[in-house]
Amino acid sequence: MLELREITKKYKDKTALEQVTLTLGKGIYGLLGPNGAGKSTLMNIITGNVRPTGGAVCWQGKEIRAQGAAYRSILGYAPQQQGLYDNFTAVRFLSYMATLKGISRKEQSGEIERVLDFVNLTDVRNRFIGTYSGGMKQRMLIAQAVLGKPELIVLDEPTAGLDPKERVRIRERIRALSGERIILVSTHVVSDIETIAGEIILLREGKVVDRDSVEKLCEKHGGAGGLEEVYMRVFGEEERDASADGI
Ligand code: ADP
Ligand code: MG
Repeated sequence: MLELREITKKYKDKTALEQVTLTLGKGIYGLLGPNGAGKSTLMNIITGNVRPTGGAVCWQGKEIRAQGAAYRSILGYAPQQQGLYDNFTAVRFLSYMATLKGISRKEQSGEIERVLDFVNLTDVRNRFIGTYSGGMKQRMLIAQAVLGKPELIVLDEPTAGLDPKERVRIRERIRALSGERIILVSTHVVSDIETIAGEIILLREGKVVDRDSVEKLCEKHGGAGGLEEVYMRVFGEEERDASADGI
């Protein structure tokens, strides 16, 4: 179980997250909010990459900072940014990540085969990642995130910049991951998560507006038009603000 207790994050005068308290058990969660809502900041705090200004993150009841490598070994994370590993082949990149995760040499090759097959990149495993399409790079990021069968998987906008076909493909890969684990997927695109998430967390200006099943959110926020309409009602103004700022 993952618990966020009154997480606040301030960047100088900007409050990116304010008093976020959440408890997540097994299942797929959609973290939904417009650009600038604080999704990446929240994920960076969950993964331990960013230190919160206030509050605590606990895994199985213990602060993640006190767990170090033990926490990293149950965690899989796909960051929002692509292009960092363009000079690696898929196999080299995955063995590098597997080593960082503490997967033994003996287990590595089997595990790499498994994740390549999972994201359907076996055929291009010896090509440089820089030659991949955006969708393939994104599947590569998912592949490294699932190395070692982590209990907690955090995917930051895994469908950003993809065409509709690849979006569906990524969505189906995420669905296939569900089971005995926690999966948190951020997006500002409703269709990415509407059919796969058991619960949606609505994040607006650093605060959790609501969290519930799609069905309940529609009831509560009057979305006869589904989650898309809930989104428009909850975030309508912010979306316009964000685009006005050019974020
Ligand atoms: P999202 O992922 O939902 O688009 P972010 O978590 O990236 O949102 O950003 C939330 C807010 O925090 C934004 O206003 C953003 O400009 C600000 N922010 C994020 N990272 C930094 C940083 N390193 N320094 C200053 N401000 C930041
Ligand atoms: Mg983001």
